[in-house]
Amino acid sequence: MDDLTGYLADVHRRVLPFTDGEVASYIPALAEADPEPFGIAIATVDGQLHEAGDSRTQFSLQSVSKPFTYALALQEAGFEAVDAAIDVEPSGEAYNMISLQDETGHPDNALINAGAIAATSLLPHKGRMSRLLRFYSSLADRQLHADASIAMEEVENGHRNLAMAHLMRSFDVLGDDPVETTRDYCAACATMITAADLAWMAATLANSGRQPTTGEQLVEPLVVQRVLSVMTMSGMYDEAGWWMVRVGLPGKSGVGGGLIAVAPGQLGLAAFSPRLNEHGSSVRGVRTCEVVSRELDLHVMGSR
Ligand code: GLN
Repeated sequence: MDDLTGYLADVHRRVLPFTDGEVASYIPALAEADPEPFGIAIATVDGQLHEAGDSRTQFSLQSVSKPFTYALALQEAGFEAVDAAIDVEPSGEAYNMISLQDETGHPDNALINAGAIAATSLLPHKGRMSRLLRFYSSLADRQLHADASIAMEEVENGHRNLAMAHLMRSFDVLGDDPVETTRDYCAACATMITAADLAWMAATLANSGRQPTTGEQLVEPLVVQRVLSVMTMSGMYDEAGWWMVRVGLPGKSGVGGGLIAVAPGQLGLAAFSPRLNEHGSSVRGVRTCEVVSRELDLHVMGSR
């Protein structure tokens, strides 16, 4: 498509009327968020950025951090250590389910909370949060920061996350102290981001791990292949099957309203809108990905 920016403006206009869903309510910062913003961005593997609407509005990264934390853990701790702790099976369950294997205490995958907490614990303890921030920033090609008050609210209300961390520690799945690991997981969720940033992060995955503007190889191709495979099966939790049929791309949502979809070899698509469906994914975001995937013929299983 020649005029991708014009096309995105048109998609934005068509998806804007969808005002169903509710903002996340488990912490005050999200419950009080303005539900109205709506931004879309596409970054292509050849380094072009196309945007529509509120693509520069900041929001918290939340679970969209998970595939990137998983990538860093695979890269720094190695496949063997990560696979010894975290399975790669679709859980088909909600993001905060206590999905641990009975015998081993392994989380089903790295994209549900338990798995993301385990992945965080496998990174070196010292300077872990700044390492994660540096990694996210290099993917977005912009200096990012975590919002301290959101991180604090996440910790204060994160009883289930902390409980899962302790449970995993009892199975020797967790590589670090449960309290400190959960604190860093919460801080990663509180990273402030925009749809434009997310499009670059997704485009880096689409480009076999090479950041399209800086040309830096940030993620090894084998790690990208693994992360995209798990995103395909589990990125959308208990909506993963429906998402795959309708959108047909590796995807990941977060309760801050952010959503990414990766078209390998082509582009990263990102959307932001805070009203969520019952699975914790942005209503307008999911709608945007459905429309764009269909109209640009991006489904990985081929044309419709
Ligand atoms: N911080 C959230 C949590 O741990 C992230 C969940 C999400 O975005 N799906 O509950």
